[in-house]
Amino acid sequence: MNKFICEICDSDECSFYCHVKDETSRNTGFEFNYVRCGGCGTLSLFPLPTQEQITLANETLLGITRPNSSFDKRYTDGYREALRNEYRQTFSDLGIEITPPHPEAKCFDFGCAIGTSLDILADAGWETYGLDVSKQLTALANQSRHKIHVGEIDTLPSDWTGFDFILTIEVLEHLLEPANTLKKLIALLKPGGVLLTETPQVGMLAELYGEKWRVLAGLDHIHLMPQSTQFKLLADNGCSIERWISFGSGCTSGLTPRHIKKAFDQLVKKQGIGDFLAIKSVKSK
Ligand SMILES: [Zn+2]
Repeated sequence: MNKFICEICDSDECSFYCHVKDETSRNTGFEFNYVRCGGCGTLSLFPLPTQEQITLANETLLGITRPNSSFDKRYTDGYREALRNEYRQTFSDLGIEITPPHPEAKCFDFGCAIGTSLDILADAGWETYGLDVSKQLTALANQSRHKIHVGEIDTLPSDWTGFDFILTIEVLEHLLEPANTLKKLIALLKPGGVLLTETPQVGMLAELYGEKWRVLAGLDHIHLMPQSTQFKLLADNGCSIERWISFGSGCTSGLTPRHIKKAFDQLVKKQGIGDFLAIKSVKSK
């Protein structure tokens, strides 16, 4: 077995957290352990999956390689509008001004998928850039309106820099190197530029759900960081946190009566203990 070294804090100490077996609709057949880093509390798959395994998991998760999947719903106007509303809510909750700060302002969505955030920001007047590893998803983005790059961060065109606003929503947890990638992203941001990160947080809900926590999804959720670790990572890379929100109670639509889900979702948001964390930070000048 490989030696554990935390990608986020470099600690070589960890303890077993739980075993995960992919028995979901993804059904990749893979089995993994999550361990908890002794240095920063991050839950990580160990041993780490290979890039080939991650790609297969992502494709099956999206339903690209699965018949009768939910992938097709991404084409529908209703799905897109629901997603747009979620993004607008997050921007509003974090006090992120969607009016561009100047006429040539550029924004970059790292993990843009079908380009939902870019649509909102282009409507507001931003010059919009997006990256995603998925050809299938970016094919559904408005490619004539946004500059879209398919690939990893290291393959970006050299003039994709000096952004006024960078966002990365539900992406960091999928990466083998979230800390290293965040550092590279922040380097693309102008001094004084705004960064929005959103990823699950290991906290009270994660502990209460234990190994049944919905976020412990195996292959596609590789590193799950506590709030304090996310704050430290941003600060260590020269960003100051302006505002944060958390949301998500783990009450699943369809399984939990709607009024109960609504009450618990509002409760965790008000208490700041949701299992997803969105942070607005600003790069130092
Ligand atoms: Zn660590």
